[in-house]
Amino acid sequence: MSVIIKNVTKYYGEQKALDDVSFEIKTGEIMGFLGPNGAGKSTMMKIITGFIPATSGSVTINGHDIGTGSLKVREMTGYLPENNPLYPEMYVREYLGFVASMYRSDIPLKNRIDRIIETTGLIPEQNKKIGSLSKGYRQRVGLAQALIHDPQVLILDEATTGLDPNQIVEIRNLIREAGKEKTVMLSTHIMQEVEAICDRIIIIDRGVIVADEIKENIYSKLINDRLVIEVEFDRDIPDSLLAGIPHAGRVRKTKPNTWIIESPADHDVRAGLFEFAVRNNLTVLSLQRKEGNLEEIFRILTGK
Ligand code: ADP
Ligand code: MG
Repeated sequence: MSVIIKNVTKYYGEQKALDDVSFEIKTGEIMGFLGPNGAGKSTMMKIITGFIPATSGSVTINGHDIGTGSLKVREMTGYLPENNPLYPEMYVREYLGFVASMYRSDIPLKNRIDRIIETTGLIPEQNKKIGSLSKGYRQRVGLAQALIHDPQVLILDEATTGLDPNQIVEIRNLIREAGKEKTVMLSTHIMQEVEAICDRIIIIDRGVIVADEIKENIYSKLINDRLVIEVEFDRDIPDSLLAGIPHAGRVRKTKPNTWIIESPADHDVRAGLFEFAVRNNLTVLSLQRKEGNLEEIFRILTGK
């Protein structure tokens, strides 16, 4: 059950929220869609689930195009939107019955509801009003409605945001469990989340994909292959000057007179940096290699 996104661009009026985005999610993968707020994660998910149209580009789920095969795609896809909109006045069991009745199935409605209430750990809460539940249990109801028609693809938008640490662990376990037999796309702005549960990580920033790696390669490709240097000079200079140093990759000012400069690990930027300082009559007050971890890489890639 593969999901193929090709050249998707989305404009909201004048604003470009997605800029020529392409990626694939392979069958059975748990893909972490990581990016800062406003990066375009929710927009991408709304397009994949057919809630809003793309301005251009295509989305295909197991061969069905989201435009021409929208009903088929909805049958195959479960979606937990950001902020998990629910009906607070409805009872848990009643609500899940309501959602289940919208899908065709050969399995009797009661059995479908019983099954999902059990797998999402909602048995003790099934006769309560949704509005009276804790945030963790409401999130379980959100997951239950996304899973009720046993979809092959699960799209979860910030599923653990706003939960306390115990609730986060519980929801992650449910996602992991569901991920054993489904293709999952999970958006988050939390690095640890993708480290904890994903097989693959795609990083998006300002509508553009800036990294796409399987988990085993995250460290080798994104972290070990990069050198991250922090340098402090005795005065301010334009970023563009630093970008001209041989092998310099991204350059980002972090504090007054201080920059983070990225270079490939086998093309150390430091020698060039000293020559640059001499040539420009700058004094290097400090120079250090930054610890490469996913959080730092995320900040470098997204400029946050
Ligand atoms: P994320 O989920 O990564 O935080 P979004 O997809 O919600 O990002 O938003 C991407 C960009 O598109 C943001 O700049 C946001 O302000 C803008 N945006 C999102 N939804 C709308 C909308 N309905 N109308 C106009 N702009 C929007
Ligand atoms: Mg969002």
